[in-house]
Amino acid sequence: MHFHIITIFPGMFESYLGDSILARGIKEKKIKVSFVNPRKFVTGKYKKVWPDGNISAAVDDRPYGGGPGMVMRAEPILKAVESVIKKIKKNSKAKIKIILFSPSGKKFTTEYAKNSAKKYTDIIMISGRYEGIDARVSKILKPDQTSIGDYVLTGGELPAMVLIDSISRQIPGILGKFESLEEERVSSSEVYTRPEILVHKAKKYRVPKILLSGDHKKIEAWKTR
Ligand code: SAH
Repeated sequence: MHFHIITIFPGMFESYLGDSILARGIKEKKIKVSFVNPRKFVTGKYKKVWPDGNISAAVDDRPYGGGPGMVMRAEPILKAVESVIKKIKKNSKAKIKIILFSPSGKKFTTEYAKNSAKKYTDIIMISGRYEGIDARVSKILKPDQTSIGDYVLTGGELPAMVLIDSISRQIPGILGKFESLEEERVSSSEVYTRPEILVHKAKKYRVPKILLSGDHKKIEAWKTR
């Protein structure tokens, strides 16, 4: 699976993808994550070269109809996505899905993750910032407008990391046997490890007896109770 992230803040992903299970998946080439910064595609009056040599590339502009905040312009995002699609299409077997993050989009679930892992080879994710993305991007690309929950974040970078994590878990070989796929087995939100009796402020907290019984049938029943 190749994830292609359209973001003006690729640096935000480094730490999360640089450790643990996802880092291993990337190293073992089971997943790949690439970034395209829409700033690269800013042209015309939005691109300025200052006397000191600095270049600024504005990906945003004021909203039509007024209101606070800025809106991400369609053009640099469309060009960024087109550049990715062009690369992906060099492989004729590629199956592409485009996701655009929006707090009012379709809710992301484990089912969504499973389907995505099964059906696609390349997932393009568009992370918005500011007040969101010019609606014409959705009209043109017809992406899956996706929300990770009923709250508003400052950008689509965390949602992209959430999807990378959750979809990757569904790809064979990403999880080792010690992290086996919770969704596929009997699991419990109440888990215990050593010691059997935890003493905290003179009070004893015990592991439920059933978990020490060795009776696997009863244990499974307890986990799904
Ligand atoms: N004014 C917009 C909110 C923009 S939030 C609105 O009311 O819809 C800025 C960006 O953060 C969005 O473009 C989206 O990419 C991302 N974002 C914020 N909350 C999100 C959520 N719950 N799920 C997915 N993406 C979210």
